[in-house]
Amino acid sequence: MGVLRQFENEAFRDFINNKKQDVIDQYVFEINEYVEDKIDCTKCGACCKSLMINVTSNESENASIYLKMSEQDFKEKYIEESQQGMMVINSIPCHFLENDKCTIYENRFKECRDFPHLNKPNFSKRLFATLIHYSICPIIFNVVEQLKIKTNFLNEH
Ligand code: SF4
Ligand code: SF4
Repeated sequence: MGVLRQFENEAFRDFINNKKQDVIDQYVFEINEYVEDKIDCTKCGACCKSLMINVTSNESENASIYLKMSEQDFKEKYIEESQQGMMVINSIPCHFLENDKCTIYENRFKECRDFPHLNKPNFSKRLFATLIHYSICPIIFNVVEQLKIKTNFLNEH
């Protein structure tokens, strides 16, 4: 992302923080629905090359069954486990991405399904984290750019 766009996005964050959160959420839900419909995640996979994916023990069990391997083998091969028991996929890009496609798509993890979280409330509070992926995720890019228009930000700055 260029420096000018970075400054613009920082100004946008301050601008959004001064707006009513529920109004912004409603705008984001509407814009996101429109944008998501136009972008095919199965032809993108950019987030799979940059996100650290958390995995729950249920998901680890399900994925190992899906891949027809023991859970122990699955964990040894694909998971890094903290001393507190937190599990993450041990490789970025994700192991399961091949030719920009998820090879376990039907069984992908909740964190993969939820990204980029634009259908959840409190967009304003999550905007800092969302903007980190602005140049990576075309859904985020388009929603943020359309939100700048919808809120009149571009005319005021
Ligand atoms: S499991 Fe699939 S959707 Fe999730 S990060 Fe890996 S390749 Fe992407
Ligand atoms: S980066 Fe965004 S558009 Fe691309 S696959 Fe991930 S969520 Fe979908």
